[in-house]
Amino acid sequence: MAKFVVTPSSQAQRDAWTGGGFPEVERVRPGLWSVPVPIPINPLRYVLVYVLELTDGVAIVDAGWNTDEAYDALVAGLRVAGYEITDVKGVLVTHIHPDHYGLAGRVREASGAWIALHPADAALVGERYDDAAIDSLVARERELLLRSGVPRATLDELAGASMAIRHMVAVAKPDRLVEDGEALGLPGWDLRALWTPGHSPGHLCFVSPSRRLLFSGDHVLARITPIVAVHPQSGPNPLADYLDALAAVRGLDVDEVLPAHEYRFLELAERVDHVMAHHDERLAEIEAVVAAGPGVTCWAVATRLTWSRPWETIAPFMRRAATNETLAHLVWLEARGRVRREGGVPELWHPAG
Ligand SMILES: [Zn+2]
Ligand SMILES: [Zn+2]
Repeated sequence: MAKFVVTPSSQAQRDAWTGGGFPEVERVRPGLWSVPVPIPINPLRYVLVYVLELTDGVAIVDAGWNTDEAYDALVAGLRVAGYEITDVKGVLVTHIHPDHYGLAGRVREASGAWIALHPADAALVGERYDDAAIDSLVARERELLLRSGVPRATLDELAGASMAIRHMVAVAKPDRLVEDGEALGLPGWDLRALWTPGHSPGHLCFVSPSRRLLFSGDHVLARITPIVAVHPQSGPNPLADYLDALAAVRGLDVDEVLPAHEYRFLELAERVDHVMAHHDERLAEIEAVVAAGPGVTCWAVATRLTWSRPWETIAPFMRRAATNETLAHLVWLEARGRVRREGGVPELWHPAG
């Protein structure tokens, strides 16, 4: 793939990311701040919370993970910007993943702020974080992994891999459901929501046409690509959703992309093209693995792909993500008639025709 490197719009933030450090709270431009909030035990290290100054307080885009350390970092970051936590009027959550949504409930408790989510993610809140429903979710994940051909010996390890982090997400029901294209009505901002499903079924980006900014959440990032996977809470063909949603933001007339991780940058369209090319390459690689060994399971395909490190050394949580991500690509190829699925447990994949 032709190498394309985005231009960071904050050199200090980029240096902090690549140097393994923690970026400063920064004033992005008048009325807008970037506050890094730490994520525990995660290579992403922090989520970038954006603080939007309103006439009567602030709104924030994403909140952070639900730990004391994260909460303290958010409170301290707001103070640098000249605000208290009680000044937060609204929390715009890009999606329900714990590093974005986890702290929203606690912010609301402290400030009375509303929490906004897209309906498709709001619908998943109860099931994902409610103890009563979690068992059925784990059972469905197990079934899915069995169909994917995960060996029984590693099944429990993989199916329960994300349960340990659940306690870090407060169960918060949103106050506001935000639809695609909706104007948020924040004083001083012409902010509009864009529904960008794929990484999460209800992922939202927020665009300000007058300020020429895109808050991209996990949808478009500077260097990494978000996980797009089939799982019990995904849509049936999440990769198709994701690629469509990439195409939908590609033509936005913005000067700067403000993502939730790594660092902010300039070239939206070029970065989108690069991410699309990455998925094209992955699709071709997966199609070739199926062609080379017809009747393979999804798990077997995943083990034969190129990953950033040897398969055996990848942590269970990431191996599950990799398997479900491989399945998303197989499902996409199936929908295009490039591979076909032989039903059963496990399912077997063949070249089409
Ligand atoms: Zn995410
Ligand atoms: Zn994230």
